[in-house]
Amino acid sequence: MTNRPITTDDAGIPAPSDEHSLSVGPNGPLLMQDHYLIQKMAHFNRERVPERVVHAKGGGAHGFLRITEDVSQFTKAGLFQKGKETPLFLRFSTVAGELGSPDTARDPRGFAIKFYTEEGNYDLVGNNTPIFFIRDPQKFSDFIHSQKRRADNHLRDNNMQWDFWTLSPESAHQVTFLMTDRGIPASWRHMHGFGSHTFLWYNAGGEKFWVKYHFRTEQGIKNYTGAEGAALLVDPDHHIRDLHTAIAAGDHPSWRVNVQIMPFEAAADYRFNPFDLTKVWPHSDYPEITIGTFTLNRNPANYFAEVEQAGFEPSNLVPGIDTSPDKMLQGRLFSYPDTHRYRIGPNYLQLPINQPRAAVNSYNFDGPMTFRNQQDPVYAPNSVNGPAADPSRYEGENYQVAGEIVRSAYTKHAEDDDYVQPRALWENVLSETDREHLVSNIVGHASAPEVTSDMKRRVVEYWSNIHKDLGQGVARGLDLA
Ligand code: NDP
Repeated sequence: MTNRPITTDDAGIPAPSDEHSLSVGPNGPLLMQDHYLIQKMAHFNRERVPERVVHAKGGGAHGFLRITEDVSQFTKAGLFQKGKETPLFLRFSTVAGELGSPDTARDPRGFAIKFYTEEGNYDLVGNNTPIFFIRDPQKFSDFIHSQKRRADNHLRDNNMQWDFWTLSPESAHQVTFLMTDRGIPASWRHMHGFGSHTFLWYNAGGEKFWVKYHFRTEQGIKNYTGAEGAALLVDPDHHIRDLHTAIAAGDHPSWRVNVQIMPFEAAADYRFNPFDLTKVWPHSDYPEITIGTFTLNRNPANYFAEVEQAGFEPSNLVPGIDTSPDKMLQGRLFSYPDTHRYRIGPNYLQLPINQPRAAVNSYNFDGPMTFRNQQDPVYAPNSVNGPAADPSRYEGENYQVAGEIVRSAYTKHAEDDDYVQPRALWENVLSETDREHLVSNIVGHASAPEVTSDMKRRVVEYWSNIHKDLGQGVARGLDLA
């Protein structure tokens, strides 16, 4: 016998055999009393949790945030104080594909960070784009359905995608991003991340500010063309492999942490609705300020335990940071923790990857798989010296909103228009080559056999609304000029 450890079952009992089931003679039937075999088979049947309905395919790594600048005048959040270092876990993902789908598909990338702060977990659940396809969560499940599979043949369908996009003009900015070469990053290391939503920051004096986060890759931007991305579909795990290999080799990727800060009062009459997730704040209005960096320096030791079971929720906000009236953020505050309760179970926050490093003194109690050894009292208020809330830590919650209860679009600000910002991208940011690739990527996508000629006309109209040259380029490519 070598000095190998002895196999056990999950109760720690030495296993009788790694190879043979218990049978009546070498050739006879198996016995129900082989509890070791039964445990193996039964556990195997339960090995998977339901995959995420969006962002199913991903990878991630551990790292740390380091703050180098003093932003205490804007937020009292402990993790953002100068000199502070905070451990974190970052998960990257595609949005629409299932587990096992190719990393180099054209899709936004999820960029979800969990900061294990001394004041509890702070999760920033962003993307590699600063904007999104829609601005009201009422449309979220419809949008995702249109990007996934048809009910009848279980195929993805570009006609269905264009149907939704062309009937949802607010999607134009994000679809423009998606169809540029940034729609297929060469690796997760070579793309920016964005908090995307607008959040509230408040300082120790209770003064409030609106903030947007930008995580700028220090590896530089690198993308694949449509053809390069398609060629790599044969390696569905291209991005997981790249990140894992780089970190294992000591090549630790990092991002600059930048913020845009808007005074609280400026939001009301800013030229764009600052809470509309389909819009950016142009840099000329609110420049980016660098406040620190974060670095990824450790691969997960077990993919399932650390990546698959990681649960990110924009509702994890720490004192000094709060929500905004962004309707998409409001929807996500509910849907993210809810999906983890369904997918992993109501005590998912007790798993090591999700467990806060700060003490947990909540009055939530029991539930499946709990291993928090909660002591009495299990209710509040109580007269036996149980934990007591400290409302003074939550200055962010006390601002006024008023209005009738309505179902309505946002009130438009002076320059709100669905095409003005994608037009600025086309006119002022994209190079001649970027524009050519944008047109050919759109034409390639809209040339799929299932896209009808009526839909192609709608596609041309959609892009013409952004810029006539863009519309003409798409029309030529689709033989509709
Ligand atoms: P700026 O010229 O100050 O910024 C342009 C931004 O566009 C930079 O962040 C740049 O990132 C990014 N960019 C460059 N190439 C592409 C591309 N192919 N696809 C997507 N983004 C790209 O302009 P404004 O702030 O006035 O914004 C103009 C337009 O730029 C916006 O309407 C929006 O479409 C886009 N944009 C704006 C951002 C913002 O927060 N203001 C953020 C990202 C895009 P990089 O520096 O890495 O090249």
